[in-house]
Amino acid sequence: MEAGGTKFLCAVGTGPDDLHEMVRILTTTPVETLGRALAFFERFRGRLRALGIGSFGPLDLDPASPAFGTVTTTPKPGWSGVPLLRIFQEALGIPVALDTDVNAAALGEGRWGAAQGLHTFIYVTVGTGIGGGAVIHGRRLRGLLHPEMGHLRIPRDRERDPFPGLCPYHGDCWEGLASGPAMAARWSQPPETWPPDHPGWALEAEYVALGLVNLILTLVPQRVILGGGVFRFPPLYGMVRRRVQERLGEYLWAPALAGDLEGYIVPPALGERSGLLGALALAMGVAEDT
Ligand code: ZN
Repeated sequence: MEAGGTKFLCAVGTGPDDLHEMVRILTTTPVETLGRALAFFERFRGRLRALGIGSFGPLDLDPASPAFGTVTTTPKPGWSGVPLLRIFQEALGIPVALDTDVNAAALGEGRWGAAQGLHTFIYVTVGTGIGGGAVIHGRRLRGLLHPEMGHLRIPRDRERDPFPGLCPYHGDCWEGLASGPAMAARWSQPPETWPPDHPGWALEAEYVALGLVNLILTLVPQRVILGGGVFRFPPLYGMVRRRVQERLGEYLWAPALAGDLEGYIVPPALGERSGLLGALALAMGVAEDT
């Protein structure tokens, strides 16, 4: 199950070529949304081995915490404190794995997509927000909490860009400056309507690259999977790759970083299905563990 801020996608299957019975549920109140999702999975009672949930967050993923498996400080009305994991575990009586939508998507890309055969990689999405997940040595990255890559600080030139940023917590963090809504607000026009020579694309490429450079230097991923609604303008990939290269300044040496980075910063191979297949990968992981 992909639990998104606007919709939930539920499906049953064993892999990209066997994913069926998909339903889409609008995200409204927890009672209504989770009730419909549970009703969907109830139909398969006795035939489900495990459930994986890739969810919007933030989430409490610390098994030692009393709030383990709940949505924490989301501004989404009614969703703070919802015990996602427990609700499905108790109702379905099967192993349930929960992680962020982006950590799940990273896992899915590792299993079936653009990061197959790699042990350390990141998945970053730039759309209505910015989110990032990481797999490090084959395991989803978690520590005190799950990563919150979208709220990185990036350097900015206030003369070139006086826009204060949109993040309700930090103003001009990475997401505050470079999410789709930030682009639309800065230029009073949504990026879907921008011509290819709109100056906003160069600024966006710069900001996306600055965040990625920090992640590349910190986590040294073998590959960066980059997607989200903002990349429906495909030339942005080349622009971001060039800026990343300039910012790394030939300091890091690795064969993957030689050349134009076309094989290093790549779109998700699973496309729009990264999240749902990521949730399936989570389910398979917990099934294998139990
Ligand atoms: Zn922020």
